[in-house]
Amino acid sequence: MSLIVTGSIGIDTIHAPTGNADSVLGGSAIYFAAAASFWSPVRLVGAVGEDFPADLEKPFHAFDIDLEGLEKRAGSKTFRWTGKYLDNMNDRETLSVELNVLAEDLPPVPEAYRDSKYVFLANTHPGGQIALRSQFPEAKLVVADTMDLWIETERALLTDLLKQIDGLVLNDSEAFLLTEKRNPVTAGKHILDMGPTFVVIKKGEHGALLVHKDGVAALPAYPAENVVDPTGAGDTFGGGMMGYLAATGDTSIGGLVKAMAAGTVVASFNIEKFSLERLLDLKRPDIDTRLNEYADMLAVV
Ligand code: AMP
Repeated sequence: MSLIVTGSIGIDTIHAPTGNADSVLGGSAIYFAAAASFWSPVRLVGAVGEDFPADLEKPFHAFDIDLEGLEKRAGSKTFRWTGKYLDNMNDRETLSVELNVLAEDLPPVPEAYRDSKYVFLANTHPGGQIALRSQFPEAKLVVADTMDLWIETERALLTDLLKQIDGLVLNDSEAFLLTEKRNPVTAGKHILDMGPTFVVIKKGEHGALLVHKDGVAALPAYPAENVVDPTGAGDTFGGGMMGYLAATGDTSIGGLVKAMAAGTVVASFNIEKFSLERLLDLKRPDIDTRLNEYADMLAVV
């Protein structure tokens, strides 16, 4: 079933204890779309500036991503982000962010995308997320991601967005920032009171928690030994989860937990190399093999 994403597409510079990557492809929507495409074709709505380098476009064509909704906007500049990972490879600082085209209007949604049933509003300005959400009144499942920047600077818009979505994905520090509740289950329940049917709280190397109107579930992270660049872990988790949901159509709590397992495993590959390099040489059987190992690891009774 048709899956659509909007979010950032940009140029990242990454400093990590494992090395540096200068001006590489990044952005929430592109990580999401690449990961989701292992299960389902993805439609992408987003914009880059006229400065976007042609060689960074190549990965767009390597995955099953429909690019009709991607605009190269004349007179605008591409979103840029520079981040630095601390020695624990879990915590990071944003050294600089230039919103550029991300602060402008979204490109128009192509007519052919109107029947999209699964909508993912990857991390971007909540105004852009609301603008896209409103164009799919008959969507089966709408899920959004967000981050500390928007919780701090655009809380009113974010509160508005929460009333219009089925699910929210965010990390534990962001859940605390949004709710001021330290316990992630309590924070999750508080977010359910703000609108969504479920919330997924990502806890980095400690896995992810699902707080749903029908119950609570927790999944560990895949125990990864080779962590080179955690950038995009959250977005690839979301991509795997939504790609799996779009492929199976099972949005029950049980279906969501299986989808989270798919997200966990594809994210564990993404962090093995900088930027989208690992996803570019990944094949679906590699994912299925690791998913089986992960399932065996969880078979505790
Ligand atoms: P993640 O590691 O999953 O949180 O996602 C990292 C990606 O998010 C990077 O590729 C960045 O380009 C992108 N990003 C960073 N800050 C923002 C922001 N304020 N809005 C949208 N995307 C962002």
